[in-house]
Amino acid sequence: MDTDAVIGIDLGTTNSEVAIIRNGRPEIVREDGEAMVPSCVGVDEDGGIIVGRQARNQWIAAPERTVLSIKRLMGSGERVKMGAGEYTPQEISAFILKELRERASRALGHDVGKAVVTVPAYFTDAQRKATREAGVIAGLDVVRIINEPTAAALSYESGSEDTRKILVYDLGGGTFDVSVVLVEEGVVEVLSSTGDNHLGGDDFDRTIDDRLNRHIESELGVSGADADQVLQARLKRAAERAKIELSRQPYLQIEEDHVALVDGEARHLSHDISRAEFEQGIDELLAGTMRSVTMALNDADVRPSQLDRVLMVGGSTRIPRISELLAERLGQEPHGEVDPDLCVALGAGVQAGIEMGLDMQAVLVDVTPYTFGTSAVGELYGQPYAHQFVPIIRRNTKLPTTRTEPLFKMFDEQDAVSVRVYQGEDPDALKNVEIGSFEFEGLASSAFATDQGLLCTYQLDLDGLLKVHVVERATGREIRGVVEDALGHSSGSETRASREKVEELWDPETDSAGGAGTVSTDASRQMDDTLERAQAILDTAPVEDREEISELTGELRRAISEGRTEDAEDIRQNLEEILFYLE
Ligand code: AMP
Repeated sequence: MDTDAVIGIDLGTTNSEVAIIRNGRPEIVREDGEAMVPSCVGVDEDGGIIVGRQARNQWIAAPERTVLSIKRLMGSGERVKMGAGEYTPQEISAFILKELRERASRALGHDVGKAVVTVPAYFTDAQRKATREAGVIAGLDVVRIINEPTAAALSYESGSEDTRKILVYDLGGGTFDVSVVLVEEGVVEVLSSTGDNHLGGDDFDRTIDDRLNRHIESELGVSGADADQVLQARLKRAAERAKIELSRQPYLQIEEDHVALVDGEARHLSHDISRAEFEQGIDELLAGTMRSVTMALNDADVRPSQLDRVLMVGGSTRIPRISELLAERLGQEPHGEVDPDLCVALGAGVQAGIEMGLDMQAVLVDVTPYTFGTSAVGELYGQPYAHQFVPIIRRNTKLPTTRTEPLFKMFDEQDAVSVRVYQGEDPDALKNVEIGSFEFEGLASSAFATDQGLLCTYQLDLDGLLKVHVVERATGREIRGVVEDALGHSSGSETRASREKVEELWDPETDSAGGAGTVSTDASRQMDDTLERAQAILDTAPVEDREEISELTGELRRAISEGRTEDAEDIRQNLEEILFYLE
């Protein structure tokens, strides 16, 4: 046994994970590619103890021999039945900890005896004591118990010297917590914590599950489906899969063959669902979580503008609507780049490293520093607006990533659409940086009579290559385009300020909307356009403007040829200001 080795454990309600320290960094232990160990313990047919996936798999067939969600009973003094025996929650948890400890030992190549274990911030003394006891039973010396939001903050903030206030929004499979934490000189303090112990992804699955059951009854004419346990288990699984898929794509067809026999004939399920419909179904539940956000801020006496960071933890925060709601409520884009399922275990790993006397840094991941999106007819500040920004890949998303959003025509007869690519954070697309534009011509005239429209996919890799793929849903026709160096562009505040100034003077009706070329970047097209117009006006311009125009034209050409994109854009804006008065 290596007496110095410490491991980090996230002992979750649904899943648990373990992190080891390798080369001075926390690393999640995976076996057969799987990091998550279901927090599930059972006794098999031969009386042997089984833990994790194997135990969860036997749960439907043998619930009397299987225990789930033991975390909910920690510190309660209750006992649970499992097969022929009776166990304390500490004993059941110890089986899970033992499994995690063995995994860590296999990964490290030697036995380990010390661990940092995480618990929810709201855990009482009795619950914390029970967790420590579970460790002892599993042969682990629990050197530190840390709060889950503290661990999440450590995974992002460790090594930072500044004092920072952070909001941690943690939505998992069956629990929800929101906490405000203070990081000061490397010490993390939980200022407030609130939530709902019985809210999470399972509730979201249920909204889809209910839809499928209604569909089976009303569309397929099947009665009594709710009594068919095997069918219900299939629908539950299909609902969760659909929910996860809807985080990536806006529409989905759920297919399940042979769901029932009606008059001797097999019935198959095929049900369409959109992300918008799913989001509507969970709207009230999410609104409740936002009320908890307000409560946590009030309890901590912190205003949204005082938050340095917003962190998303827990698998359910991959639902895009959640980052939208947090951004709307808190005025900043939340971070979810450290894998939300593993962030707490990684933070426990950071603390384990600190316990080992190592100098630990935050977990580093590559993210996009900008939001990428397109524009559409919509609303801006409650008013109809032709250039509403539609974010597709949000700021702080881990790279590489692929996201899809639906787009619609303005009117049925419209036969072409310019798919513009913007980089920036402003709800007004014209105030962001346009980095490309792709023309989709020859749209089917009937395609938009229904709600079908186009599907626009952005795929962004670590090198900043942004691939754009647009499909007409009704016909399957598609266009593809590429914006190279999408991360190299800038939306710096200076450029933005002058852009805003010009926008104020600019009549949106007469701007460059429409007329996009095929696969050329709009930025360079705009440069050419400004230069051409400046040249054309030179002879007729008043003498006092002529000198400035030719000077700016020369500067602009130089900036373009030297690849100084930001400077070029600034100069172009200056030129446009003069042209505005002269044309
Ligand atoms: P956790 O308890 O943190 O492991 O979170 C598990 C929950 O996250 C389960 O309800 C999963 O269905 C849910 N989940 C995982 N990935 C996604 C996803 N991409 N979109 C929506 N929910 C997800």
